[in-house]
Amino acid sequence: MIKDINYWDLDIIAENIINGQKLTDDNLRELLSLTEEEDIEKLQYVARKVKERYFGNRVFLYSFVYFSTHCKNNCAFCYYNRCNEIQRYRLDLEEIRSIARAIKNETIHMVDLTMGEDPYFHNNPEKFVDVVKAVKEETGLPIMISPGVMDDRTLSRLHESGANFLALYQETHDEELYRKLRVGQSFDERNHAREFARTNGYCVEDGILTGVGNDIESTIISLRGMQKGNPDMVRVMTFVPQEGTPLELVTQQSSLAELKIISVLRLMFPDKLIPASLDLEGIDGMVDRLNAGANVVTSIISADSSLEGVVNYDRELEERDRDSKSVIKRLKSMGMEPASQAEFNRILEKQHVTPVRIPVAAL
Ligand code: SF4
Repeated sequence: MIKDINYWDLDIIAENIINGQKLTDDNLRELLSLTEEEDIEKLQYVARKVKERYFGNRVFLYSFVYFSTHCKNNCAFCYYNRCNEIQRYRLDLEEIRSIARAIKNETIHMVDLTMGEDPYFHNNPEKFVDVVKAVKEETGLPIMISPGVMDDRTLSRLHESGANFLALYQETHDEELYRKLRVGQSFDERNHAREFARTNGYCVEDGILTGVGNDIESTIISLRGMQKGNPDMVRVMTFVPQEGTPLELVTQQSSLAELKIISVLRLMFPDKLIPASLDLEGIDGMVDRLNAGANVVTSIISADSSLEGVVNYDRELEERDRDSKSVIKRLKSMGMEPASQAEFNRILEKQHVTPVRIPVAAL
């Protein structure tokens, strides 16, 4: 599909994708197997062409507020799993409000409120509803929630209270690998929560990990699994071994597989949101991911923030280069710019399913 063809033909491939051509499993196999720099650059060229057709040079920016690092789960890959003896925090409502007020003055299209599956909020969902309401009140911005698996009723309450987007990563749609990564958690409940949200007024994000137990066939299962869920945003992130976790001694792979998958995602989901996270390799890594076909910068935090990221490549660094001003400066040097809020809101509005209200008596 990509090897041994010239740039004129690459333009034709991009055009075919824009006109609705779907990748076969054999296409996926071929693209995910590329190893030569020249071939990968061709793949990225096609991905950029497709992205530019839908989004031009515009990029969306999400601010990241990790407001509780407590978690009742035991994911093998995660620094915050309940067995890891680390220092944890849970911000109170006033602290969250004050972060939200600071975000309001920055160029940000959406606020991502992330937590582990913290029993404090999971057992008292109204406390989380209060957080969503407070951030909406302070910023007026769209809100993404990343709270782990929540029940249908709570998801409905949160949506009514101002949550627009649910991020809930399956990490893998290969069930065997899932059991090893998300230890003791239901595969189906996780899919269900995303599906319930999607059909009840939310936009949804799904995501996968690469570099941990996934070969090409397993990656194809995950890509097809994500496709089946029809998400509005699709993510891939490279696994980074975390101290104190069962997988801490696994050798970390380069970001090459992630960059290839980002390009493949762009060909499979031409008009969807695809993030370039700052959490893995900072602003330089953001540039690579945008060049591979991503169109959203995530994990933006204020220059002086001491809050956690998820992977935290910069946990040990004194200066963190993850604020919106630094991001925008670099975007401009790449000939890109932040989209307008109206452009982002139009994407949210495309998800127009009227929420099926659960009768109060049933709650
Ligand atoms: S990935 Fe999420 S649910 Fe799993 S241990 Fe980490 S914070 Fe908890």
